[in-house]
Amino acid sequence: DGVDGVALDVAGVSKTFGGLHALSDVSLTAAAGSITALIGPNGSGKTTLLNMICGYYRLDEGAIRLGDGELSRVPYKAARAGVARTFQTPTIPPGISVGEAVRSGRYTTQHASFLSAVLRLPSYRRARARDLEESRRVLALVGLADLENEEAVSLPLGTRRLLEVSRALIAKPRLLLLDEVASGLDEDEVDRLAELIRRIRDAGGTVVLVEHNFRLVLSLADKIYVLARGEILAAGSPAEIEAHPQVLTEYLGV
Ligand code: ADP
Repeated sequence: DGVDGVALDVAGVSKTFGGLHALSDVSLTAAAGSITALIGPNGSGKTTLLNMICGYYRLDEGAIRLGDGELSRVPYKAARAGVARTFQTPTIPPGISVGEAVRSGRYTTQHASFLSAVLRLPSYRRARARDLEESRRVLALVGLADLENEEAVSLPLGTRRLLEVSRALIAKPRLLLLDEVASGLDEDEVDRLAELIRRIRDAGGTVVLVEHNFRLVLSLADKIYVLARGEILAAGSPAEIEAHPQVLTEYLGV
């Protein structure tokens, strides 16, 4: 029951906003079934890079490949190709339960057609039953099974972040992009989140995360890329990055 991760290959990607070079000739690779972290000071281009990978921004230059397929140039194709992402601010709407919030992650990929839903055909009921079963499995995995019927927005931030990741997971992404999922969480919540991300990786998922918590990045990532002023300043294992002379000063932005 693996997640079927694939390798990500970002080659020579640049992005300008007006005259500002947000990314300049950035290349990185993330192996299938690995955790890759992007770190760097504010404004260094981390979020822009995530947005390029998930197709929100058009590529000015370069190429982005996922497995054998080119991801570039047509935004919606990234989601279709199996890229899921979470956002810095949880985006769960009011009035829905935890279970419903998780199942909403399936809406972009589910196979039951609108017509079969309207007509309540067996294929629709089967899809509903499958969604229900999968959402319960995901909630059990993240330790939220008891909260299935609670209203999602009323939960603490840490729980909502776990929910965001669960919602991304149920789409069975081949590449999961996490944007500062640990921010605002207490130590226990960070540990649970880290454990979940490791399990996704160990099940074969490819994870790329933007994260400010340096300790978390060191304990979690297989590979770290350090961005500074839109360029890759350093790349390597946690041990290599920790030993890199420029990284700490750049990372702290001093
Ligand atoms: P980080 O995520 O590392 O904090 P960002 O990728 O958000 O950095 O930003 C990189 C640079 O690009 C910053 O100078 C930022 O102001 C600029 N930028 C990001 N998004 C936009 C946008 N949509 N329009 C104009 N400038 C942008």
